[in-house]
Amino acid sequence: MAYQTINPFTNQLVKEYPAHSNADVQAALEKADALYHSDWAKGDIDQRLPILHKLADLLDKQNEELAKIASREMGKLIEQSRAEVTLCAQIARYYADHAKDFLAPVKYDSSLGEAWVEHHPIGVLMAVEPWNFPYYQLMRVLAPNLAAGNPIIVKHASIVPHCAETFEHLVREAGAPEGAYTNLFISSGQVSAIIDDDRVQGVALTGSEKAGAVVAAQAAKKLKKATLELGGNDVFVVLDDSDLQKAVQVGVQARLQNAGQVCTAAKRFIIHEKVADAFLSQFSDAFRQVKLGDPLDESTTLGPLSSKEALETLTRQVEEAVKNGAKVHFGGKPVDHKGNFFEPTILTHITRDNPAYFEEFFGPVAQVYVVKDDDEIVKLANDSHYGLGGAIFSQNIERAKRLASRIETGMVYINSLTDTAAELPFGGVKRSGFGRELSDLGIKEFVNQKLVVVS
Ligand code: NDP
Repeated sequence: MAYQTINPFTNQLVKEYPAHSNADVQAALEKADALYHSDWAKGDIDQRLPILHKLADLLDKQNEELAKIASREMGKLIEQSRAEVTLCAQIARYYADHAKDFLAPVKYDSSLGEAWVEHHPIGVLMAVEPWNFPYYQLMRVLAPNLAAGNPIIVKHASIVPHCAETFEHLVREAGAPEGAYTNLFISSGQVSAIIDDDRVQGVALTGSEKAGAVVAAQAAKKLKKATLELGGNDVFVVLDDSDLQKAVQVGVQARLQNAGQVCTAAKRFIIHEKVADAFLSQFSDAFRQVKLGDPLDESTTLGPLSSKEALETLTRQVEEAVKNGAKVHFGGKPVDHKGNFFEPTILTHITRDNPAYFEEFFGPVAQVYVVKDDDEIVKLANDSHYGLGGAIFSQNIERAKRLASRIETGMVYINSLTDTAAELPFGGVKRSGFGRELSDLGIKEFVNQKLVVVS
């Protein structure tokens, strides 16, 4: 696929980026591997951490410029792009401040003698990343692994080459040596060849189930570790004792943020029957207030989808859902505009035999289900191939906590949308993938936890 910047608000081609050749790939692998065998990667962590501090400062200083690049390239509202850049700076700073503690030796009591586990880098990693958070997805892999000493080769999504290139320049400007972080505009075939290469020791992918399955199979064939962060079909549960106004307000944000293109976005709204009518009415009112427009205009509240293909896929999904019995409660179709806009949409009456019941809708489309009690909530929530995040709204925290424990996902938030922060682990179960990013758990994914025993 060609690496192109196409403005999703105008659908105009802005710039095409030349692809990297196989010789470029070899050169990148050589540099990354040489760095892995150097004192920079294997030596004292204190020589690597200042790069993350500097990177955080650069991100803060260039926030506005970086935000505009992302908004123009993939359609994110400017305010949300600024927040993404801020979050990236927080992640860089977090690992700069904490990685040394996370990677310090850990003592073990043992009858075999004095024992401890040390943490060492494992080698070059391949990262395959998506466009929906064009900087944050990169930072989630870069920050912990730069701290740990693993050089990274990155294939970013082909629709965000400007963000990919800009991020690579920033990392170099922050002082990362050659080979620490290399962005390549390459094909799936070239990714496969990199995964096969003996110098590469692991793969991290965020994206679709389809891409995850292909890349994880390639890694498994060569007995290499992979972490996968794939799709989600997260529930947003509103109990009969919730603060309804807050649930509606957060629910709208949870579904429409980033034009609905978030793996942890609220996709299935499960509403207790006692508050269902009131919720639906307020939720529709809030959707009616949405202002579609240019993502760079501060007053816009819903931007375009990232690409023409994304709009076509979502349109097809909604049509299919309706054909199979779903009712359109609000919206339901693409907007007649040169950009990739889809109306904020609410679907009801989705039965289990409707393909929509199991599908992830990567756009501003909410599915609403009405339930009688907590057992039905758990049954519906867990009747999913995915298991990423979820949200529960209730003023009875004990009840919400009991429900949270029963929901089969990697993350559950009570009285909030599913969020992310540098210090909290991020990841899922089932077809949402495996492994964790961020926090102390994220930095341990690609390190050799080496046991040493003195007897
Ligand atoms: P993809 O999974 O196709 O893209 C994610 C990344 O994987 C991109 O860099 C893509 O490259 C790359 N890729 C795709 N196939 C392969 C392959 N066989 N080998 C190596 N790399 C590959 O996602 P899409 O952008 O097509 O989005 C489709 C769906 O994926 C969404 O509707 C959503 O369900 C899910 N998704 C989930 C995300 C999440 O945050 N978990 C993020 C984005 C998408 P290229 O761009 O060149 O195709």
